[in-house]
Amino acid sequence: MANSKYEYVRLYEQPDTLLQNTFIVVRLDGRGFTKLTAKYEFEKPNDIRALRLMNEAAEAVMKDLPDLVLAYGQSDEFSFVFPKDCQLFERRASKLTTTIVSTFTAHYVFAWAKHFPDAPLTSPLPSFDGRAVCYPSDTNLRDYLSWRQVDCHINNLYNTTFWALVQQGGMDPRDAEKELSGTVSSDKNEILFSRFGINYNNEPDIFKKGSVIYRDFFPIASEKSPVLQTASKTPPPLSHPQPKRAIARPMSQPLERTQPSVLRDSP
Ligand code: ATP
Ligand code: ATP
Ligand code: MG
Ligand code: MG
Ligand code: MG
Ligand code: MG
Repeated sequence: MANSKYEYVRLYEQPDTLLQNTFIVVRLDGRGFTKLTAKYEFEKPNDIRALRLMNEAAEAVMKDLPDLVLAYGQSDEFSFVFPKDCQLFERRASKLTTTIVSTFTAHYVFAWAKHFPDAPLTSPLPSFDGRAVCYPSDTNLRDYLSWRQVDCHINNLYNTTFWALVQQGGMDPRDAEKELSGTVSSDKNEILFSRFGINYNNEPDIFKKGSVIYRDFFPIASEKSPVLQTASKTPPPLSHPQPKRAIARPMSQPLERTQPSVLRDSP
């Protein structure tokens, strides 16, 4: 095959190597999930089954791609973080992105029936788009994750209020939308509390803050951290670093607090 007269077409391929010494974040997002959630009658505003399915697929991606150190998910999206010194696929953007997106999609479709046993998948099947972005500093990476988490919070507060007006207040969706236009966070909190007795702060963390998955490089049996307690079935011996594992959990505290300890131990 080598040196055939057709070989020259390879020169048409464009290099897409990502900048060295930067964090690489690949974010994927469900295609047309507004329609998909209606088709499969997701519970509104949050269908916990769908979030668990997203988390399961993301955890599987972390297991399939040992270079990944962190992932953050909310709604129909997940962001996957490669460390600065990652050399996987020569840091080629298209290879990294397509591998993550197709691996995620495969696991999402494979695990669908477990989470939605009464709603078998039919065409058009779920699919995801993806992109890769470089972040040079710890601060940039943290701000990126904060950006996604703020998006989660803003959308969830809006959706929680909107669906309370519709489902519990019997309001027409268009009227609910009008009612909420121009409101700020405190207005929505007030609507939820005064009209529906809902204290937004008491909503589940997985809805308000999203989910984080991080690689536990050196789990220590004696450590009383919630991550190790929930994740270790058989406590590993104290002195030996364990194989890399991926652990998913809903965020119970701000991302800033869990993130540094994870990144500090990254290779
Ligand atoms: P695009 O292809 O441009 O991403 P989209 O319809 O997927 O279009 P998004 O902005 O990604 O648009 O919105 C995702 C939609 O899926 C939102 O309406 C969101 O409320 C809904 N959704 C995602 N996850 C859940 C869930 N677990 N429960 C209920 N609804 C969900
Ligand atoms: P990479 O991840 O770099 O693509 P790879 O192992 O997939 O690694 P390829 O160059 O893509 O490497 O080669 C695909 C391999 O799969 C070859 O060994 C090929 O013979 C095998 N293969 C693909 N399709 C078939 C098929 N239909 N029947 C038998 N073998 C197949
Ligand atoms: Mg999109
Ligand atoms: Mg989407
Ligand atoms: Mg989305
Ligand atoms: Mg191949």
